[in-house]
Amino acid sequence: MVYGTAAREFYQNELVGIRNDGLFKEERYIVTPQGADIEVEFPEGAPVKKVINMCANNYLGLSSHPDVVKAAHDGLKAKGYGMSSVRFICGTQDAHRELERKLTAFLGTEDTLLFASCMDANAAVFEVTLGPEDVVIADRLVHASVIDGIKLCDAQYDSYKHMDMKHLEKKLQQFADKRFRMVATDGVFSMDGDIAPLDEICELADKYDAMVLVDDSHASGFMGKTGRGTHEHCGVVGRVDVITTTMGKALGGASGGCISGRAELVELCRQRARPYLFSNTVAPVVVTASLKVMDIISETTERRDKLEQNTLYFREQMTAAGFDIRPGVHPIVPIMLYNAQLAQDVARDLYEEGIYVIGFFFPVVPKGQARIRVQLSAAHEKEHIDKAIAAFKKIGEKYGILGLGKKEIIDKYGM
Ligand SMILES: *Cc1c(COP(=O)(O)O)cnc(C)c1O
Repeated sequence: MVYGTAAREFYQNELVGIRNDGLFKEERYIVTPQGADIEVEFPEGAPVKKVINMCANNYLGLSSHPDVVKAAHDGLKAKGYGMSSVRFICGTQDAHRELERKLTAFLGTEDTLLFASCMDANAAVFEVTLGPEDVVIADRLVHASVIDGIKLCDAQYDSYKHMDMKHLEKKLQQFADKRFRMVATDGVFSMDGDIAPLDEICELADKYDAMVLVDDSHASGFMGKTGRGTHEHCGVVGRVDVITTTMGKALGGASGGCISGRAELVELCRQRARPYLFSNTVAPVVVTASLKVMDIISETTERRDKLEQNTLYFREQMTAAGFDIRPGVHPIVPIMLYNAQLAQDVARDLYEEGIYVIGFFFPVVPKGQARIRVQLSAAHEKEHIDKAIAAFKKIGEKYGILGLGKKEIIDKYGM
């Protein structure tokens, strides 16, 4: 017996429940490299279809950039495929340390420690830096991996209302007697593309003697005038104590993450972080390709500038077309539809029109806040964006939602 009938039945019923609630997520098989133009097999077994990808985290269009791919090939030849070790035994190549140095210089911090993912970085950082005498106060909408990381540490956990600085201040006052206070936030929140007010957060942290941790996964490489991240965008480079971020989004999109910040804090993570000590080192090809990514984005702001222009253009055109989009400046553009079924139907119809986007609904966003999350990329040319806008208009007309606000869409389709 593999496992008992009771467990099997339970899992099967859970899956039926997920399907009945319209919440079942299906994978779509991409048969090409990642990019603006991709080919997709969906549903499984269907003929491959050419579509424009509008939902990747490929912000800078580096995922399949020829120079990055070449650096991976060269790295494979020069450094081999695997390291078969964790970092501290025999898993550190010179390239790993070089990448840590380049990330440090780019992010404007003191030191950096690589992880297999940002999820791992977040799983590491709280446990090492905080103990039972401390408190971590997090924005209520931080990424799941920040929440999971906090759960692994012994500090008291509390939260403040999303980007509500008055509430954060109250919490900092309330925990004045703790040994350390750490404020944790995403730099950019992935569902709305809204930007944490890091200038105000740093002010409060100074006033109440707190540390600031920013998960900048949706910002590293393109937010701010030279792409350093949300801290640059908000004018607080050097004032954020610890940044966690990923190479799995703008920075090439393969994998890998890091903790970057105050020297002794990072060094302590190198000594004690469990995902660092007990999980395999980042693969050499990922490291050598990431080094090339750092060179590309350090030499010129061309790609982040193009991303900024693409974002502005798409936001303006979609607003003019009558879509209900969350305002902002980030390449994450939430097209609000509120109803989960509507979000899925619109996404499916857009796919038929050759535009690959995904409906987001509970539990990824709160119930009644379903949406299509478009993500712009520097890989998009104006023709891509114009095609996407035209398709959105056509489908928006079909469902009669152009020009409608939240209340009217909900009146028409329900939550
Ligand atoms: C994507 C993301 C992560 C996870 O990064 P990985 O490197 O893929 O594990 C963590 N935090 C935030 C805010 C993210 O957006």
